[in-house]
Amino acid sequence: ESMVEKVLQRRSLRMRNMQRTWQESPEGKRMVDFRKSLPAFREKERLLESIARNQVVVISGETGCGKTTQLPQYILESEIESGRGAFCNIICTQPRRISAMTVAERVSAERGEPLGESVGYKVRLEGMKGKNTHLLFCTSGILLRRLLTDRNLEGITHVFVDEIHERGMNEDFLLIVLKALLPRRRDLRLILMSATLNADLFSSYFGGAAIIHIPGFTYPVRAHFLEDVLEITGYKLTSFNQIDDYGQEKVWKTQKQLAPRKKKNQINALVEDALNNSNFDNYSSRARDSISCWMPDSIGFNLIEAVLCHICRKERPGAVLVFMTGWEDISCLRDQLKAHPLLGDPNRVLLLTCHGSMATSEQKLIFERPPPNIRKILLATNMAEASITINDIVFVVDCGKAKETTYDALNNTPCLLPSWISRASARQRRGRAGRVQPGECYHLYPRCVFEAFAEYQLPELLRTPLNSLCLQIKSLQVRSIGEFLSSALQPPEPLAVQNAVDFLKMIGALDENENLTHLGKFLSVLPVDPKLGKMLIMGAMFRCFDPVLTIVAGLSMRDPFLLPQDKKDLAGTAKSRFSAKDYSDHMALVRAYEGWKDADREGSAYEYCWRNFLSSQTLQAIHALRKQFTFILKEAGLLDADSATNNRLSHNQSLVRAVICAGLFPGVASVVHRETSMSFKTMDDGQVLLYANSVNARYQTIQYPWLVFGEKVKVNTVFIRDSTGVSDSILILFGGALSPGAMAGHLKMLEGYIEFFMDPNLADCYLKLKEELQKLLQK
Ligand code: ADP
Ligand code: MG
Repeated sequence: ESMVEKVLQRRSLRMRNMQRTWQESPEGKRMVDFRKSLPAFREKERLLESIARNQVVVISGETGCGKTTQLPQYILESEIESGRGAFCNIICTQPRRISAMTVAERVSAERGEPLGESVGYKVRLEGMKGKNTHLLFCTSGILLRRLLTDRNLEGITHVFVDEIHERGMNEDFLLIVLKALLPRRRDLRLILMSATLNADLFSSYFGGAAIIHIPGFTYPVRAHFLEDVLEITGYKLTSFNQIDDYGQEKVWKTQKQLAPRKKKNQINALVEDALNNSNFDNYSSRARDSISCWMPDSIGFNLIEAVLCHICRKERPGAVLVFMTGWEDISCLRDQLKAHPLLGDPNRVLLLTCHGSMATSEQKLIFERPPPNIRKILLATNMAEASITINDIVFVVDCGKAKETTYDALNNTPCLLPSWISRASARQRRGRAGRVQPGECYHLYPRCVFEAFAEYQLPELLRTPLNSLCLQIKSLQVRSIGEFLSSALQPPEPLAVQNAVDFLKMIGALDENENLTHLGKFLSVLPVDPKLGKMLIMGAMFRCFDPVLTIVAGLSMRDPFLLPQDKKDLAGTAKSRFSAKDYSDHMALVRAYEGWKDADREGSAYEYCWRNFLSSQTLQAIHALRKQFTFILKEAGLLDADSATNNRLSHNQSLVRAVICAGLFPGVASVVHRETSMSFKTMDDGQVLLYANSVNARYQTIQYPWLVFGEKVKVNTVFIRDSTGVSDSILILFGGALSPGAMAGHLKMLEGYIEFFMDPNLADCYLKLKEELQKLLQK
């Protein structure tokens, strides 16, 4: 005990000396001066005092005022200054991995230290932290995982939960867990940070926690809505795409091109018309839905181009930030702009992109000021909305949308589509333009659409499937998931919870009494969706590990096959080259990955990706995930040390197909062949379509009666994404337990087997059959 104490004391003194030396060096002084100029600095004493006195403090303040980089650092510095540096352990969570990394890097630089010294970070698959690290930036997911094994956060003195206003699922979940932990850890300090002023909500959740607001200053930003933008740029709109609530696409074409003077009225009339044509009860949701599919398409791109040209030609100096919905749109617009005589000229425009999976070298560029006479244009996703601050932005272009997962509990379908942002987000985006001087914001939608936006976005907990979350909750030794979730800031629907519990029972992660099974315990440790975790284990069991490993890593990432808006056909053709007539997107992925590895060995990985519309970043991430999964499975004793043993049957296509089926069940659709067409029906009798980029969408007929798929996605109609054809026998043997409800009427061909599966006495027989099959396949 006292030995440890002594070591820590000695280390604390060393930390103090280093800190003082840095702060007195010329460079350190400059940094200290910069930090003193931030609004947070004026509140420093008040903040430290409040945190010392209260167990929970809620802090709000404009983006850029210094919450993330300064507040945890103030604690660290004051502990070091008082000679207790080595005794404190501060954790600060971020919703996104990229912000955890950039912020840690920034704070290290402010302290004149290399990353991984007193300040470090940890995100999935990556980390930089050493034995001297006392301030750790990590994703909220990482802290949740730690809480699974370290329920009291032993040794941690301060926890900051950042960006709580975003209401991410992990953040809401963390708050429930931390709230329960506080009485057990009286000395632990919890600090919640938010960019908006709805601090009261969080304060009252913690029984009236202290609130501190950091007053900030931003310059006024002028808002231009679509009607003004058209006038400013002289751009002519010719049509609006709009999709009604029955999934029918309607294209409103204005009769003539909109004459400049008539524009304002006509646009308003068009939107009015769209609103009047839907028959929802609730006005605001009706307005949101009926306008939900408008923009940004190629019309949007050209309009953005026109706005950017206008800024470059006519406006004062200053960087431009363009908010887009996702990486595909960004890369597509970037290509379009690169070909433009003005915007593509590197002597006049520095065109940069900013999105979740960008490389670290790219990240640094976005903060740097370009040489004079060169205008910086930054194409970004909504991650630039609050978590990172770029100082020289004077102009913001806002397309008004963000990709958002919504979850329809009734149909048990996650829906991913670009949807309108909230008014709070729109204001936040606008605010990005007023950091250094008065700014301009171009909203590419009419004012009346803005007014129909929801005030705040729905919390993620209420709009995503809860499978993974419920499994994690269970591994916190919680008795009733429903009860646990009912203590959330805004609890999810009981039906959504029930769906998740049913699902976990079906895959065998929970038993009849909702207790965690062995399988469930293991699945909760694997950082991947439970059903993919199960697929991984089966891949190991059945000795066809390698292809399954690639598939699971691929499915838990974004799709490596890119689908740029204007090159969908080319991209689809490129992907179909990886399909060896085996009716499987999953096998195509395996081939694409194998090809990439070969290309990488020959030094032509970049060219390979370019040619095949593949994302090299995603492939690299898949590569890293494969390593991580392999490590975890080896640790758990589920893999043989010898890779050849694990892959003895990897060449056996039917077996790999069977394992895919086992993992993806109950995602099954029957293939209904008609004379000239095919249609697809899921077990709940839903009609689904194949995603355009699926290799199976390219065939006239599919040589399998069933397709198994990972997820249904609702984009107006329900689509299935990646699919693999399977035979009757595979479905019977590997399809998992079938619930009578799901079976009813729809799996006609399997009727004879229903009784078999429903009889518990035959469960053993079923398992033996699987074993038999395995032996058979091994021959
Ligand atoms: P908040 O969390 O309140 O939004 P931050 O702590 O992230 O604010 O940032 C405070 C200030 O620090 C910013 O306004 C910016 O001037 C500066 N800053 C933050 N990150 C960087 C960086 N990576 N490079 C340069 N300056 C940065
Ligand atoms: Mg911040």
